[in-house]
Amino acid sequence: MKYVDEFRDKGLIKNVAEKIKEAVNPKKSYRFMEVCGTHTMSIARFGLKHLLPPNVKMLSGPGCPVCVTPTSFIDKAIAYAGLKDTIIATFGDMVKVPGSTYSLQEVRAETGNIKVVYSTLDALKLASRNPGKRIVFLGVGFETTAPTIAAAIMEAKSKGVDNFFVLSGHKVMPPALKALVKDKDPRIDGFILPAHVSAIIGARPYAFISERYGISNVIAGFEPLDIMQGIYMLIKQIEDGDPRVDIQYNRVVRAGGNKVAQNILKRVFDSVDAEWRGLGVIRASGLRIKREFSRIDAEKNFKTKSRTVSRTGTGAEINLPRVRDAADKGCICGKVLKGLSEPKDCKLFGKGCTPEHPIGACMVSSEGTCSAWYLHL
Ligand code: SF4
Repeated sequence: MKYVDEFRDKGLIKNVAEKIKEAVNPKKSYRFMEVCGTHTMSIARFGLKHLLPPNVKMLSGPGCPVCVTPTSFIDKAIAYAGLKDTIIATFGDMVKVPGSTYSLQEVRAETGNIKVVYSTLDALKLASRNPGKRIVFLGVGFETTAPTIAAAIMEAKSKGVDNFFVLSGHKVMPPALKALVKDKDPRIDGFILPAHVSAIIGARPYAFISERYGISNVIAGFEPLDIMQGIYMLIKQIEDGDPRVDIQYNRVVRAGGNKVAQNILKRVFDSVDAEWRGLGVIRASGLRIKREFSRIDAEKNFKTKSRTVSRTGTGAEINLPRVRDAADKGCICGKVLKGLSEPKDCKLFGKGCTPEHPIGACMVSSEGTCSAWYLHL
């Protein structure tokens, strides 16, 4: 298959592994972070860590959108699910993400109004098929998915769909990277930057990482050869003393990104401080729906008294046992998302916590670091 087989060619991958071995300085250690969950999956699935010299370490970052969704977002969605004539529409991964007390999956049977959809378009169709109900779509994801949701918001407004709402939990990546490099713990010598996000925003928004912090960057594709080439390019930047932002994934990513998608984002969203699971509140790292579209903004249209879940809108609690706070149980997902710990450092990994029965968000999505380790390492 064009653009797949050639990037999984074992001979070519081994050649790059050799070049990496020759390029590293054996007296140094190199700590690289792959930011995106899809990279994490690919590294685990193709066993790439085994091809790297022992002094090259890969850390996983906060690029799995489900994993960084904070408990407060899930709690709010559950509170909305308890309101009369309201249906929550969400992508499948989100239903298992733990809130502070329940996940959406745990209240699904009680409320009966949480529907899994496969696209924003499906959520819009749900709204037109259910004129007596209010459909709240959970908008989660980075610059990659936000443009499609922005387009749905524009469509709902232009067509006068009055029962479609979006709860925006969107996040943008550069401020999170800034928070990571400012923290200095863990030490990061280079980033494999998120490829899908970069297809939208381009390379320029990352320039501060090399210019201000002297850290190397490569935007790499998701196939094993892409990632190995990206790692080689990082080592070259470091050894040449020339940190910058290189694009390995130039069959998709342009320096200026996708202007159409950028304009849609600017048209619908404003920047806002946002909470990330594990990283806390990061300045200007979220997207809030602009006032012009406030009729569609769930936060402007739904009032909940508390995090109490109600089936009737009266505020009465649904009859479920309190489940957990993942951190109380020993989940270290917050540290995993910052690259401070690995899944194997968690006492629950593969024991209490598995993809079938996740305790923390990092085990929920197939792109979560704990899930990738569990399935492939
Ligand atoms: Fe949390 Fe489970 Fe990962 Fe442990 S294995 S850090 S409990 S998600």
